[in-house]
This record gives sequence, structure tokens and C-alpha cells, in this order.
Amino acid sequence: MKTLFKFCYCLIALSLPWYAAAQQNAASPVSLNRIGDKLYEVTGGSGANGGAFIGEYGVLLIDAKMNQESVNQTIQEIRKLTDKPIRFLVNTHSDGDHVAGNRFFPESVVFVAHENCRKEFLLPGRNGQPSSWNDPALAPYIPSVTFSSKMDLYVDSKRAELWYFGTGHTTGDMVVCFPDDRIAFIGDQAFRGRTQLIHSYKGGNSFRHVETLEKMLETINAEKFYSGHSEALDRIMIRSHISEMKELQNKVAGYIKNNYTLENIKKEFNKDQGNLIETIYNEILASK
Ligand SMILES: [Zn+2]
Repeated sequence: MKTLFKFCYCLIALSLPWYAAAQQNAASPVSLNRIGDKLYEVTGGSGANGGAFIGEYGVLLIDAKMNQESVNQTIQEIRKLTDKPIRFLVNTHSDGDHVAGNRFFPESVVFVAHENCRKEFLLPGRNGQPSSWNDPALAPYIPSVTFSSKMDLYVDSKRAELWYFGTGHTTGDMVVCFPDDRIAFIGDQAFRGRTQLIHSYKGGNSFRHVETLEKMLETINAEKFYSGHSEALDRIMIRSHISEMKELQNKVAGYIKNNYTLENIKKEFNKDQGNLIETIYNEILASK
């Protein structure tokens, strides 16, 4: 029976890409690595990579890690740098590995997200189960401040820009840009060396994803893009990610035209691209 439980647990874990990604980091403790002026990448612990801006009058955190231990470690690391309060915690999008830790921060923190991200907090999960965020006890930890296209936050004289460029990985992904440093945090909107995740069950869309990233490159001046699950990317890497996505979409469209089944189309790609190919296939059929 125990083995069966273990087996089921593994199946569930493997079916959740963010969970698997988060586990890769679970062994190393949370650390804040300096990447700019008062600006840090937050790596390690359980959950995605995020960011921290240690401002003159407070701290702005980007993404929350996933459990109490990792949140405590994050706070401890911040306390080594400043005794100022954590004023804002910005959730780049609604996936658990970026938001589950919200509930372990003090209630005084202001949680900020794109308006669609807040909506996604309360929607059923991939398996149709109701979201745990519907528990009224967790209400203070759901983003209370939202925006639609752009918002600036200040914990210092230096500006942090929150941008929304459109649907892609989900419907509510934001980009946090520090224009003075030419640095942006993009959550899960691109990875280096990993297949892109598109959450169709949250309204994500691969064709919109490409447009969203193009808009990002046109609009902000960042040269380095920090990702939730990989090393940072530069503008050339984002451009080649866009080209690769377009190439996949064109290939899938070609196979559909030639009456290939989804099963046969998948055989033409690497195994780890299976979910993305299925998403693209469904998007093309739905647009007909
Ligand atoms: Zn993630």
C-alpha cells in the first residue's frame, strides 16, 4: 500500500512541472545574490527563483517561495542586509511555486499582482479541485493591490516598474523592471535550456505568449531577464526563444495540414516538448 501511495505521489509530482522544478532547488538554502544596485536574485529553497530590492525605506520582494522554512530563510537573509520592513511582495503570476509562500509572510506585507493573477488565485486547479485560496483565513495573503497595464512601486528613490504585456504562460504574468539597472524579472515567461510552460487551464496561450514577449522587448530597456527556473537570459536569448516557439507552431500547423494525428505529431518532437506540442495543437484546432 505504501508503495502505491509513493507511486501516486510521484505521478502527481511529475505531472506538475512547477512542482518538479521547485524540488530541484529544495536541497540548497535560500540565498540572495547581488545582481545590481540594492538588487538581488533570490535562489534556493523550495519554490521558484525570485528577486529582492532592498530600498532605503523598505524591501520589495518578487515571488514568495513555497513553504514556511523557505520564507523564514528568505526573511533571515533580508535581515542580514536591512532592518527595514518588507513593504511589497509582488507575485509574477499565480503558480504555486511563486505564491504558496505568501501565507507565511507577515500580514502587514502588501501583496501585489496583475488583476488576472488575483483572479487565478481563486480558480480551480489543473485537476479541477477548488483553490485553497478560497479559505477566508488566507484572504489577507491574496494580492490586495492589482493593476491592469503598468504600475510603479517605490521603496527607494529608484523606481520599480510592474508591466503587463498580455496573456502567455498564464493570463496574469507580469514583468518587474528596474530601468536604472536594465534588469527585469520575468517569472516563468522564458527559461534558458528548458521547454516553455503554457498553462492552458489558466487561459495561457502559446501564440499570445510570443506576442507578449515581443511587446516586452519593444517596451522595456532591460538587458538581463531573470527567470523563475533557469539562469538569466539576455535579449538575444529571448529573441531566439521567440523564434523557436514560432518554428514549433509552424511545424505543428504543417503536420495538421497533412492530417497527422496528435499522437503522430508528438513523435516528431522531443519527449519533453509533448505538453507544449499538445497545447499548440489544441490552439490551432480551436482557431479554425
Ligand atoms: Zn514557476
